Amino acid sequence: MSDTPGFATRAIHAGSSPDPATGARATPIYQTTAFVFDDADHAASLFNLQTYGYIYSRLTNPTVAVLEGRIASLEGGKGATCTASGHAAQMLALFPLMAPGLEIVAANRLYGGSITQLGRSFQKFGWTTKFIDFDDLDAVRQAIGPNTRALFCESLANPGGVITDLEAIARIAEAANLPLVVDNTMATPALCRPIEWGATLVCHSTTKFLSGHGNAMGGAVVDSGRFNWTAAGHFPTLAEPEPAYHGLRFHETFGDMAFTVHGHAVGLRDLGASMAPLNAFLTITGIETLPLRMARHCENAVVVAKHLAAHPAVAWVNYAGLADNPYHARAHKYLGGQAGSVFTFGVKGGYQAGKTVVEAVNLFSHLANIGDTRSLIIHPASTTHRQLTLEQRAAAGAGDDTIRLSIGIETVADLLADLDQALAKAA
Ligand SMILES: *Cc1c(COP(=O)(O)O)cnc(C)c1O
Repeated sequence: MSDTPGFATRAIHAGSSPDPATGARATPIYQTTAFVFDDADHAASLFNLQTYGYIYSRLTNPTVAVLEGRIASLEGGKGATCTASGHAAQMLALFPLMAPGLEIVAANRLYGGSITQLGRSFQKFGWTTKFIDFDDLDAVRQAIGPNTRALFCESLANPGGVITDLEAIARIAEAANLPLVVDNTMATPALCRPIEWGATLVCHSTTKFLSGHGNAMGGAVVDSGRFNWTAAGHFPTLAEPEPAYHGLRFHETFGDMAFTVHGHAVGLRDLGASMAPLNAFLTITGIETLPLRMARHCENAVVVAKHLAAHPAVAWVNYAGLADNPYHARAHKYLGGQAGSVFTFGVKGGYQAGKTVVEAVNLFSHLANIGDTRSLIIHPASTTHRQLTLEQRAAAGAGDDTIRLSIGIETVADLLADLDQALAKAA
């Protein structure tokens, strides 16, 4: 037996132990705002970050801490900071790295909401994002300048089915002495562990496959613990004295936990995007079955994608799980031969036919989410990618005729029958 327990064992046990106060085996929901101090000295040392413990649930909470330990273990990271949503996780991942006038080099094929967040809202903080085709490695190298502080991409992009060449991008980041931030929401650590390929930070919308049941918002930032924030010379937030903590230097003091401690002690303290204990509980419970669910999600997705590819009413299917897809080889290298359960297809008849299919399905739910046990359907051009320009939409793989599916874990024959009757109405 190896020293590190297997993935499925860690999905159930990592970060948790029976509750010390009651023996409760499932992680209790610590539905409390604050935690009583032993005495004044104990309180002072907690506030000085000299003692580890709980103060106030905006910073840390025991239920959330179990989830943080679990996600960090599954990703192979040193620590994690959970947040109110995936977008909050992206903000917390970049916050310690950035300052007004600094730049992010990001993939141009990202979840539409991330393009808007990085490209528009973060501009108000003075952070600029250059969107680059990450398949063009020279373009990525050329986009990096003296003000760049992070590279940002998705392991498996939502919804274009693009799989990033993580190893090559990580090498570029390393040569430039920059952290690589990878959004691993679509792949989950069950399929891909970006830290193994050189990522510095991994972020998640735990709202999707990790919680897995469409009932809990959340996010997480996982730190590999491998980046030398001091030696890089341009990350003062982590390397230089922090006035709010009596001149403490996070990297020098906390070593490979510096990013995670900062995420709580400064990021959550000041930005306030904390995860609710109930959502942490639901996500802990969801993760226990992550390996089983992902296997079934992927198995069903391959069957549905093959069925659609052979369907006379379908113009095209874009799914890296199909052998003729340009990203199929990368699915084998980075995702264990799987390609997740979210993919796009085009209906013959374009916009109008697409709209008909979305409205005609019965078992599929027409809504803006992915990674639910239930199968989901959406027309990105009129919803998730609506804020983008035509060019951005095309680059993100969300043209006018595009329908996005998130295949659930139902009986696959029922999914095929539902899509068939909807496609018949569109023909
Ligand atoms: C949904 C999603 C996000 C944003 O997460 P929220 O939990 O909705 O804030 C970020 N990245 C990807 C790939 C997503 O699918």
